[in-house]
Amino acid sequence: MPGRPTRALQAAHTAGALLLGLTAIQHAAAALWPQAVAATVLTGLLAEGRVREREHAAARRQLAEHQLAAAIAADDVTPAGHAAALTDELVIAWQQLHDSCCLNAWLTNNDEHDPTHCTRTENR
Ligand SMILES: [Zn+2]
Repeated sequence: MPGRPTRALQAAHTAGALLLGLTAIQHAAAALWPQAVAATVLTGLLAEGRVREREHAAARRQLAEHQLAAAIAADDVTPAGHAAALTDELVIAWQQLHDSCCLNAWLTNNDEHDPTHCTRTENR
């Protein structure tokens, strides 16, 4: 669906083409041929602009849809993607717990230690 600026531009092209078309008819009826030809040419240019704006809007919409699909695919929002990330975090957490001298050290980022069960001997 085209945005508001595109719709406004298309409406302006359409209104201009209709107005110039009527002007061309009036000039032709009055036998003012140079003015009638000029108004006809301008009507054609505005009509072509209307068609091109519609094509550009369709191309922009298609590009936006393609970019949205690529962003969704790259983020991997599938449940399998979340499960893999959770598994990685669990492996890291278990390794950090294994490397800690005691549970209090793991919980407090080595700020506190369990005085009865800690294996650490320095700075206690
Ligand atoms: Zn400790």
